[in-house]
Amino acid sequence: MVPLQRPRVCCSSILALLLLSLLMFFEQLVVGLPLSPKEEEVVSRFQEYLRIDTVHPSPNYYPVTEFLIIQGKQIGLDTKVVEYVQGKPVILFTWQGTDSSLPSVLLNSHTDVVPVELAHWKHPPFAAKMDEAGDIFARGSQDMKCVGMQYLEAIRNLMAAGFKPQRSIHVSFVPEEEVGGVDGAKKFYGSSDFKELNVGMVLDEGLASEDGNYRVFYAERTVWWFYITAQGHPGHGSRLFDGMALENLRISLDAIADFRKSEFDKVKSGEKAEGEVTSVNNVYLTAGRPTPTGFVMNVQPSQAEAGFDMRVSPLADLDALQKLLDEEWAPASRNLTYRFLQKGKVTDDFGNLAVTAVDDSNPWWVLFKRAVEKAGGTLAKPEIFMAATDGRYARNQGIPTLGFSPMTNTQVLLHDHNEFLNAKEYLKGIKVYEQILMSFTGTGDESGDPSNSKTGSGELSETIHTEL
Ligand SMILES: [Zn+2]
Repeated sequence: MVPLQRPRVCCSSILALLLLSLLMFFEQLVVGLPLSPKEEEVVSRFQEYLRIDTVHPSPNYYPVTEFLIIQGKQIGLDTKVVEYVQGKPVILFTWQGTDSSLPSVLLNSHTDVVPVELAHWKHPPFAAKMDEAGDIFARGSQDMKCVGMQYLEAIRNLMAAGFKPQRSIHVSFVPEEEVGGVDGAKKFYGSSDFKELNVGMVLDEGLASEDGNYRVFYAERTVWWFYITAQGHPGHGSRLFDGMALENLRISLDAIADFRKSEFDKVKSGEKAEGEVTSVNNVYLTAGRPTPTGFVMNVQPSQAEAGFDMRVSPLADLDALQKLLDEEWAPASRNLTYRFLQKGKVTDDFGNLAVTAVDDSNPWWVLFKRAVEKAGGTLAKPEIFMAATDGRYARNQGIPTLGFSPMTNTQVLLHDHNEFLNAKEYLKGIKVYEQILMSFTGTGDESGDPSNSKTGSGELSETIHTEL
């Protein structure tokens, strides 16, 4: 048995301790971020979330679920965890409103993140290191663990301030967004759990803004993935003849490139924003007969194939696009066929264009805009998201949905190396969400229900102070 000894404190350890505290003191000075102790606490919760690795291709969602459950409990939210697909939990928090008959507000975020190329990161992507400028480096710092935690922090502050929402606020953390959301948001939005929530308004992710205006997204482009297969005469590599497969395909590639250029030119000239045009990119080409060292060189192949990633704007003329595909890009007359791997729709389940109105006709929009302004922010012209987000599953049900990630003066680094978000910007975003939630759920108009309101008046009768 080892006798228990009282630890001996010697001069050198006291010195070491002193040195350490001095170092920490100087580190704070160097950081130059005047974070209050309360702010430090808030930022460290964000860092804690970022340190939980949920990276594809095989994210383990259980540690992050445990972490979030603890957060929900601390704040005092009702918590529900549902696995529509085993190993892929959806975490749902609810702050009950005083009037359960009103449509609720859903704040959605995803817990998964895209892979990293370690060699390109100056700080480890799951260490959430904050540098001297207050930039927190981590995969997910912009996309979109920031938003998920900002929702919770805003609620935490509103609760502490004694705010009582009239309509319920739900916060969902879903898995699998980065791989299409099929086992995540799609299942959740299609569930009876979701229907029971009676959601009237959804907030989901947007993008950082590189200037001082917040970006907001009211729709998104839909995915058309297709490939074109060309058939033709095979023949000796030396011969010139018509109707060879690669020549048939080359004509299509040229036509598609022309379309791509005309759409891109509209963006370059400033006539349209990127989300307002349809993009198309050739993502693969296959042809030829492989050999162990390369390809057979003296044979013209009888088949060739090209794959395309097309993102169709909800403003696009779909009939015209289809006509292009049938008559110019893949006409049967040139021995071409095409097949869709994915063909998304631009309309919702009721046949309406899947866009959320961003004018006075939509009271939620009026409340949103007013809230951002009240938080001291300004909004850029609303945009159509270039790629897909989970927001489409809500819009498809006709539910007003805005994509919003409150980050201004921030380089867009989602899916990029060295993704980071500044601590001050993160904290500012929490204030914006506080205003949005008060605006959405406070007692404003007579009915208290923007979805029933003609005027969209949602002036808050309660003034609350939410100082940290
Ligand atoms: Zn995302």
